[in-house]
Amino acid sequence: MQDLRSAGEEEMIETALSLGEKAFRGRQLFQWIHGRRVQDFHEMTNLPAGFRLKLQDSFRVSGVTIIEKQVSRRGDTAKYLFALPDGNVIESVWMKYHHGNSVCISSQVGCRMGCSFCASTLTGLTRNLTAGEMLSQIYETQRETGERVSHVIVMGMGEPLDNYDNLLRFIRLLSDEKGLHISQRNITVSTCGLTERIRDLMRESLSITLAVSLHAPNDEIRRRTMPVAAKYSMEEIFAVCRDYFNATGRRITFEYSMIRGVNDREEHARELAERCRGMNCHINLIPLNEVKERNCLRSVDPDIERFKLVLEKYRINVTIRREMGSDIDAACGQLRKKFLDQAGCNPDNPEEVKR
Ligand code: SAH
Repeated sequence: MQDLRSAGEEEMIETALSLGEKAFRGRQLFQWIHGRRVQDFHEMTNLPAGFRLKLQDSFRVSGVTIIEKQVSRRGDTAKYLFALPDGNVIESVWMKYHHGNSVCISSQVGCRMGCSFCASTLTGLTRNLTAGEMLSQIYETQRETGERVSHVIVMGMGEPLDNYDNLLRFIRLLSDEKGLHISQRNITVSTCGLTERIRDLMRESLSITLAVSLHAPNDEIRRRTMPVAAKYSMEEIFAVCRDYFNATGRRITFEYSMIRGVNDREEHARELAERCRGMNCHINLIPLNEVKERNCLRSVDPDIERFKLVLEKYRINVTIRREMGSDIDAACGQLRKKFLDQAGCNPDNPEEVKR
């Protein structure tokens, strides 16, 4: 059955026409699904009953269902474990900031990038999420909290640029003025640095923020934690990031997860700073969220502070990520992994998930 939540307005118009309805019925359908975020065709009361029945027969509006919600002690972060229609499980994080509410969404079930510190990749890639499934994570957290989402970050489970077409469809629907209408400036996509895809993205005329996961000052150290570093050198990544800025005018964010004894020395900070010279970028230092299956440790606070000071001496914009929700398994893929372990589930066969 075709999923309408991934469809754009033009496609809904075509659907209406193909079912013998006028074009404006397609526009109404879009308004219901993305403007009012209704899933059940029966609730779409201004559509003729016959049309609704036909839709019911051949289409569905995909959604996610909450399996579990964990709220941090301070109440400013909530982690959702969601079930997809096929029984797969993903997670999203809702965060309350003074400037509004952000949702961090997953782009794939699992991930195939294999970073050695990350929980999302432990079970490999199961499948890509559709645009509708990415949107549903935002629609559902907004419905459940009753609070408007203003910022979206694609930094949950998965490598978004490894699911490129669905990601683009998602961004366009999310920023559609007839949908949730989230400004593209408030959408951040994080990638481990798939340079060909960054070049494609550059040509899409989007004003989103691109975040690139570096986690190292040079290729040698990067290859120790990120298998993808064997394919793309830091030189290539920096070249594409410079081009991205020149083409879009959007400042790049570099993410740098701080792993004790691996990438957190003063000389690493200097080497990183040298690479960023003359570049309009922002570095986000992330204290590693330790994952029990991984033997990487979080850098100690004085080392993180010192790293930041060195970068500041080079006049680089740098922040240390606030550790929201570390008490609720907020690192990518952690909550899902725990759920799969408890359910005794074989990740290659999600049907086995016991509810
Ligand atoms: N595939 C995308 C999105 C991953 S999640 C990417 O690689 O960018 C967003 C960020 O969190 C990435 O920088 C990722 O490397 C980092 N990350 C993953 N697991 C982490 C952990 N346990 N602690 C700290 N950062 C982590």
